[in-house]
Amino acid sequence: MHIPARDQKFTLTIDGLPVEGATTFDVTNPATGQVLAAAPQCSTDQLDEAVAAARTAFPAWAALPVERRRQYLRTMADTIDTHTEMLADLVVQEQGKPRGVARTEVAGLGYWLRATAGITVLDTVNQDDEERRSVTRQVPLGVVAAITPWNYPLGQASFKLGPALLAGNTVVLKPSAFTPLANLKLGEILRDVLPPGVLNVITGTGGLGSRITSHPGFDKISFTGSTPTGRSVMAGAATTMARVTLELGGNDAAIVLPDVHVKQAAAQLFWAAFANTGQICLATKRLYVHADVYDDMARELADLAATVTVGDPGQDEDVELGPVSNLRQYRTVLDLLHDCRDHGYAFLSGGLPDPETAGYFIRPTLVDNPPDSARIVREEQFGPVLPLLKYTDTADAIARANDSEYGLGASVWGTDTEAAHRVAQRLQAGTVWVNESMHLHPHVPFGGHKQSGIGVESGLAGVLAFTNTQTLTVKHTQPQA
Ligand code: NDP
Repeated sequence: MHIPARDQKFTLTIDGLPVEGATTFDVTNPATGQVLAAAPQCSTDQLDEAVAAARTAFPAWAALPVERRRQYLRTMADTIDTHTEMLADLVVQEQGKPRGVARTEVAGLGYWLRATAGITVLDTVNQDDEERRSVTRQVPLGVVAAITPWNYPLGQASFKLGPALLAGNTVVLKPSAFTPLANLKLGEILRDVLPPGVLNVITGTGGLGSRITSHPGFDKISFTGSTPTGRSVMAGAATTMARVTLELGGNDAAIVLPDVHVKQAAAQLFWAAFANTGQICLATKRLYVHADVYDDMARELADLAATVTVGDPGQDEDVELGPVSNLRQYRTVLDLLHDCRDHGYAFLSGGLPDPETAGYFIRPTLVDNPPDSARIVREEQFGPVLPLLKYTDTADAIARANDSEYGLGASVWGTDTEAAHRVAQRLQAGTVWVNESMHLHPHVPFGGHKQSGIGVESGLAGVLAFTNTQTLTVKHTQPQA
């Protein structure tokens, strides 16, 4: 059932209890540009209370048998499943994505929790003889700050909550101030599921994120967001030596080889670039197309761009692409579009929107072969604009794809998968796909090379990232002579 967000009450979750914010801040619906709801602003004192609650809850949570924590994760997933429509409805309203995609995001949170519950961390026996027993094991870190961006408000939480909790940590979750509502409700529905203080959810503007990263009460900052903010997080954590995992920006290249099946690849590449209105860290953001197939690929993509349904997903269930998710990002993407226009780069579809239109809508835009020095090639657009770049020599395409400070994802497209695989091996990125893109799995680690991040999420490595390594050595006592 659809309940407008303005008719709902949102509270922080601290120590298992609902807590009113010290004040409130407005949350905007990007499809209308209108205020959607008031969210609670977490004060400095309330941040301290959330940290204290998590610290108090930590010893008992860490001491539980891991089987018990697995069960908690599964119960969390079951609870989330029973609230799919409510959570998806909030994601649609605050983030602007189509309802079906929002439902999938909520389902993904449950799926990730269940799959993470199945991960086992094994001890390593280093020595076990009459002299000593030496075992290396992984112990929880303590209190984790989970800081997430606005593109997948719940999806981003799924990469952090399961692994952190399974490993025995307690958590303070802070979603983006652009999309706080679904996370606040997540905290609410889990209050009776988890012991008090194990999961705290706080929201706020005005530097709450930087107060978290320099707070002495955190043992780990698990951060997903932009590369510039990632640098601040790392600097903030330096004062406390909190561990950091940084999942940052990307400028993912896709290389289309000359033997590609153009129509099939175009259908996939369109969504690789424009799903979630291009606001995916692993979205294709630069498309290098061999000159032999450039015109055909451009035509196929332009046809798809012209026919896709763009609109307000809160009003129309059939919408395939919603608005850009907030005014700040809308302005960033508009700025890049203006730069393209000012430099005379041709748009094969989309382009600058009508300024009279309400909401932050930009139709999928293809930019025709801008130079490598163009801002739309160098910078992360994180929006529905894709530069098509022509190449004739594969080695040159690889070099151009690698010529970036980013290294998050990449893909290669061609009929000869052996040849495509050889190209993929030469790309500098944390995940490289052949003939697909953005496929993730809870048991497969992903993370960024270069300035796209430090560390990984998901898989066994993603759980280990929430632990300290401890070696316990017992020297056997010799019987008294
Ligand atoms: P931001 O870096 O602006 O914000 C991310 C989160 O950090 C938000 O919760 C934000 O809060 C908070 N924050 C802001 N400033 C600070 C600070 N100084 N210290 C600590 N936390 C802070 O990113 P966006 O939300 O705009 O997200 C888009 C970016 O995220 C893109 O670059 C995208 O590539 C990247 N991203 C990376 C992914 C990956 O897995 N590698 C996945 C998805 C996105 P608030 O919003 O309240 O300011």
